Amino acid sequence: MLLAEQRRLLCEYGRRVVGTGLVLGTSGNLSVRVGDLVAVTPAGGALDRLEPESCPVVDIEGHLVDGDLQPSSETPMHLAVYASADVRAVVHTHSTFGTVIATTMTELPPVHYNTLLLGGTVRVADYATYGTPELAANVRAALDGRRAALLANHGGVTVGGDLEAAFEAARLLEWLCEVYIRARSVGEPRVLTEEQLAAVVHRSRNPPRFPRREG
Ligand SMILES: [Zn+2]
Repeated sequence: MLLAEQRRLLCEYGRRVVGTGLVLGTSGNLSVRVGDLVAVTPAGGALDRLEPESCPVVDIEGHLVDGDLQPSSETPMHLAVYASADVRAVVHTHSTFGTVIATTMTELPPVHYNTLLLGGTVRVADYATYGTPELAANVRAALDGRRAALLANHGGVTVGGDLEAAFEAARLLEWLCEVYIRARSVGEPRVLTEEQLAAVVHRSRNPPRFPRREG
């Protein structure tokens, strides 16, 4: 089977996105790229009940190469992301807290330094109908230099060098959105300044070294 290992991974991570509550049933899609081919979850399939052979393979231009089922309706968005960034996996969900931010704000302010793990302040892509080239273009723009973007009134998308990285980015995005929303319920969240974020980057590049005890 073409891209057998990648299609198996789609099944595994399909179960994980549902198991961790990031996806309800069919409300999300995943893909993995290898060269000019992309294995993607099928249209309308529950992500926690996928089989490798139910995940279609398309080429980078969107032609169906292998599989009996149609690819996810958001495949144009996945392909647009692969065309513009050197990434190997894309995760798209309608996770609760991400969708709340995507419905109310134009960006997720950096209130926690782990925002930097996603490349910085997460942008909200302008609204467009799901599955359209317009949405794909808006998401592509919002992802510029980032590992995550939110989709206005829709959900979120994360990318990575493999499915594990894109999945962990999706979990982090949801956690950051939840922290922001819960913080708002207590008071006005303090947003980290450019200077504070730059200091975090400096710190991460210069970790403390602990001298070994003598004797
Ligand atoms: Zn969607």
